[in-house]
Amino acid sequence: MKEAYLELKDLTKSFGNGADKVIAVDHIDLQVKEGELVTLLGPSGCGKTTTLRMIAGFHTPTGGDVYIDGVSMNQIPPNKRPTAMVFQNYALFPHMTVFENIAYGLRIRKESNDEVKRKVEDIMRLIGLENLGDRQPRQLSGGQQQRVSLARALVMEPKVLLFDEPLSNLDAKLRVSTRLEIRKLQQRVGITSVYVTHDQEEAMTLSDKVVIMDRGLIQQVGSPAEIYSHPVNRFVAGFIGKANFLQAVVDSVEAEQLVLQFLGKKIVAPRWNKEIKTGDEVLIVARPESILPEHPNEELVEGVVVNSVYFGSQMLYEVELPDHTVLQIEVADPQYHPIFTQGHKVGLAFKDRSLHVLPMEK
Ligand code: ATP
Repeated sequence: MKEAYLELKDLTKSFGNGADKVIAVDHIDLQVKEGELVTLLGPSGCGKTTTLRMIAGFHTPTGGDVYIDGVSMNQIPPNKRPTAMVFQNYALFPHMTVFENIAYGLRIRKESNDEVKRKVEDIMRLIGLENLGDRQPRQLSGGQQQRVSLARALVMEPKVLLFDEPLSNLDAKLRVSTRLEIRKLQQRVGITSVYVTHDQEEAMTLSDKVVIMDRGLIQQVGSPAEIYSHPVNRFVAGFIGKANFLQAVVDSVEAEQLVLQFLGKKIVAPRWNKEIKTGDEVLIVARPESILPEHPNEELVEGVVVNSVYFGSQMLYEVELPDHTVLQIEVADPQYHPIFTQGHKVGLAFKDRSLHVLPMEK
């Protein structure tokens, strides 16, 4: 397997001039291996769609280049690129049958009728669209229309498949089942894919790698587990999942762990960042499931329960600390733990291994 099948090198796009100038994508580098599915995830306006459109060739970069399988795409127009896009609004031709929608690109390429028939039928079988070939798009459900759109992209045998928020027009339940289908199919076909979404759950469940973007910059690239457990900064930690941020001071540094002072108590956390030193101010990222309320004792950070909700499989707490910070806490299997209600004083046990410590940002 080649290291980088799709590569973005110093890719930049700005729109407008002077005071109106917007830097949508700001000198980004990214490498995607063959067969990987990578999602671009970030808040609205962070540059995801612009990046995807530069890969497809719909936008010309202001600087930098896109390489696919080692070939520069700079001079190659969109219709000649080895890419295909699955759009949010499906972009099907309403007056054509499903078969003809899927066949469209092959006909433009002037492939023979026999070839077209074979390829379209193969892909319809693969995607589960058999028997729907004669229908028109309006006779299909949203999920089926999205499958046609996927079939139409795949039939072209692109080297890189691009997805532009393909599930955002589907209802919540269909979104979940369709994203599983997309993932299975992508793995079965082994096609290198770039997927744009602003839905973090979608990104986490679909991806080999997640690229977190903010204000035109890549903040972090990593597997879903890396991004969740070891976010590189506060933005990523807050954007993916829920996080409590605790300001602490490093008491001592050991080989594998940091001992931290927080509200006069000691908390131990894994030592990921080797640059953090004794005396440094740091930010502890504590996920809601990394804190456990217990009966108070003098070693534990104290707090008062301000809210407690029983969910059966989970107990949700809000606990106020002496400095008035309110922590969000989730306890799985509540039947195995003491249950506290509003007004209870609790001691907070931090689950060492799931804490993550960041240097304080200026
Ligand atoms: P969303 O999730 O809302 O689609 P996004 O992350 O895909 O957001 P982009 O569409 O890539 O963001 O836009 C990045 C920035 O570039 C935004 O500030 C946007 O307003 C600006 N932008 C995008 N396209 C154009 C354009 N054609 N002309 C001017 N500005 C643009």
